[in-house]
Amino acid sequence: MFGEDFSFRNQQSIDLTSMDVKMSASGLNVHYRGTENPKHALKDIDVTIPEGLVTAFIGPSGCGKSSLLKCFNRMIDTTTGSDVSGQIKLDDTDIYKDKLDVVQLRARVGMIFQKYNPFPKTIFDNVAYGPKIHGLASSKPELSDIVESSLRRAALWDEVKDDLHSKMGTSLSGGQQQRLCIARAIAVQPEVLLMDEPCSALDPVATAKIEQLISELRGQFTIAIVTHSMHQAARVSDKTVFLYEGEIEEEGDTRDFFIKPKKQKTADYIIGRYG
Ligand code: ADP
Ligand code: MG
Repeated sequence: MFGEDFSFRNQQSIDLTSMDVKMSASGLNVHYRGTENPKHALKDIDVTIPEGLVTAFIGPSGCGKSSLLKCFNRMIDTTTGSDVSGQIKLDDTDIYKDKLDVVQLRARVGMIFQKYNPFPKTIFDNVAYGPKIHGLASSKPELSDIVESSLRRAALWDEVKDDLHSKMGTSLSGGQQQRLCIARAIAVQPEVLLMDEPCSALDPVATAKIEQLISELRGQFTIAIVTHSMHQAARVSDKTVFLYEGEIEEEGDTRDFFIKPKKQKTADYIIGRYG
């Protein structure tokens, strides 16, 4: 059977058309202009991210995965020369056209990066930072509760509960720093979590913990993850989107995608002919 080397999170295919859509892109184009190498990085992308599920974006290096992910919380606006057109929706809101404060948007749509990036602050302050600036806690005990529950949900609490105020976030191991960044992101109660190759700087043990965590967070949040590992996509996701040179080559239920790809290019990519 094609795709038999993969282990899947779901033992059966899911009917994605029956799922609610949390975010969508339609007619999305991204150009990088004014650089030495101008680039049409995303070409007429139409894609949906189902609510409460995990969607994986895969494809060869340079195909536009990070660019696409960054459109979903307008992080791409911070890249000099980026030019975005088309529509991106969060629920029924057009995040580019409707009046939407980007700080609020990024609280609703949080992001985790490949290179974990805790603040040079204590563990407690890393997690408390977002809830403080967004006014989510009305008292110190309430803030402490948010910090504790976020660290618990990020599967880090037991490892750091005695060091909350004495250790810097940056002094933790790589895997712990990444889980701290996840705790920091979920502390502001986002609806969507975007993860751009969250395990690529981690060893296999730390990677397995993050994958486990993603399955615990599934359902509580809508998750979109970019990964260069097809095996990781199979293990963690419900839906897979395969990008190739700025276009969507194929997408669908993750099991179906790997077991019965519709296109030759997808099949070649899955068996590692390129990329
Ligand atoms: P991926 O994450 O799939 O590796 P990216 O979204 O980072 O791909 O990049 C898509 C394409 O856009 C690549 O060709 C890349 O070189 C180009 N690109 C990315 N960022 C910039 C930038 N700031 N300026 C110019 N080109 C860029
Ligand atoms: Mg990338």
